[in-house]
Amino acid sequence: MRLINNPVLCNYYLTYRCNAACSFCDIWQKPSSYIRLEDLRDNLHDLKKLGVKVIDFTGGEPLLHRQLPLFLEESKKMGFITTVTTNCLLYPKVAPSLKGLIDMLHFSLDSPDEQEHNESRKVKCFDKVMESIEIAKRLGEKPDILFTVFENNVDKIEEVWKNITKPNNLVLILNPVFEYNNLVMADNFTEKSYQKLLWWGKQQYVYLNEAFIALRKDGGNNVDKPVCKAASSTIVISPENELILPCYHLGIEKFKISGNLYELYKSKNIQTIIKQEGKYEACEGCVINCYMQPSFAVELNKYFWKALPSTMKYNFIKGTWKHLF
Ligand code: SF4
Ligand code: SF4
Repeated sequence: MRLINNPVLCNYYLTYRCNAACSFCDIWQKPSSYIRLEDLRDNLHDLKKLGVKVIDFTGGEPLLHRQLPLFLEESKKMGFITTVTTNCLLYPKVAPSLKGLIDMLHFSLDSPDEQEHNESRKVKCFDKVMESIEIAKRLGEKPDILFTVFENNVDKIEEVWKNITKPNNLVLILNPVFEYNNLVMADNFTEKSYQKLLWWGKQQYVYLNEAFIALRKDGGNNVDKPVCKAASSTIVISPENELILPCYHLGIEKFKISGNLYELYKSKNIQTIIKQEGKYEACEGCVINCYMQPSFAVELNKYFWKALPSTMKYNFIKGTWKHLF
């Protein structure tokens, strides 16, 4: 049963450029422009009309866009919940300008070991993450640590939790890695690792969406009975101000927005594409967290119930639940 028919999230790609080159991501290889303030203003208005609640200013590295504070300010003024994930290379420099503007601020960190983290990101950013935590705390911000979990770093969760997140009262978000464009193998977690992840998800100040694990164990999205609601729950906007469908990762269709997002989204053509979400050949077995998370929130099924406790836990810790109703 569908609970929410309108899109709830906007993945707003400020640029595809990035100052890191992570092994599990290919976005930094794409040539890209930066979004324009006038387009954002038009789109925010239409996103509101479409019922979107959360705007994820993403990339690439979103902090590369110098106008990010302005984008956040405009979004907050309009009552959106804002979220930003950064590799922290630029956070120490721009932190004061972002103060109080990001509801869910995520710092990426995949290892407690400096060398290991830097190798995975292909850039020296471990020290910047540590510095960013200190700066954020001084500014009264409450960042989360976003830990991308692989089979080979499951056992590093404990050290990150004990030495970094717990002493700083930060939420540790466990984000099981997912495959796309054959970039990484998502199905290489052993049963033992799944059990460890589920155990960690129950610990204080740790967030793991249990539905991610349930979906993987079920073989991912099934094209004959799709759990994916990517296109109907999430609006994806590219740095070139295009509407991307059905999701960023598949990106089969692109439409110029040209100040007309509401009409475009509601058009017959787009609605027909939206109905194909999760049904494309490449959708078989998909476990892309970015779209499964909103998919679990808009339809009442077993994944909804699996996701609910962790979603409530996170929203209550962060205080974001107040804005959702
Ligand atoms: S920091 Fe983020 S956007 Fe940049 S390469 Fe790594 S995963 Fe991709
Ligand atoms: S199943 Fe995956 S690839 Fe297909 S539309 Fe959904 S998120 Fe995109």
